[in-house]
Amino acid sequence: MSGFKFDYESMLDEAYSRLPSKLKSTGRFEVPRPRVEAAGKRTIILNFKQIAEAMNRDEKELANYLVRELGTAPSFEGDNLVLQGRFSQQSVERAINTYIRDYVVCPVCKRPDTVLVKEKKFLFLVCQACGARSSVRPY
Ligand SMILES: [Zn+2]
Repeated sequence: MSGFKFDYESMLDEAYSRLPSKLKSTGRFEVPRPRVEAAGKRTIILNFKQIAEAMNRDEKELANYLVRELGTAPSFEGDNLVLQGRFSQQSVERAINTYIRDYVVCPVCKRPDTVLVKEKKFLFLVCQACGARSSVRPY
């Protein structure tokens, strides 16, 4: 289950290629590539826990987003996220990349050292690198 890690900078389009690659603790901002497996009418993301951990997000928090983006229902099996329905590797990656862009990377300094803070009906992306507090669309 070590998975293979890849450098998001090399994979994402040029909008992302300008991201700084330093993350305070680990040195690089590396999110494992989702390992997507079809199982009948379900889709399993095998390394979901590692993906959530890499971006310092709660698994359920990230799952809620994916479910909304992909229009499905989730369940957890160990480290895996199981989605009802069939989803391609590409659509899972796209949803994860959108999440990183909108809910992980600080819009001010472009660093990924952030946390999501819920306040009443509002959601804020709080950056631990530059201190910016950005309002983001709740999901
Ligand atoms: Zn920042």
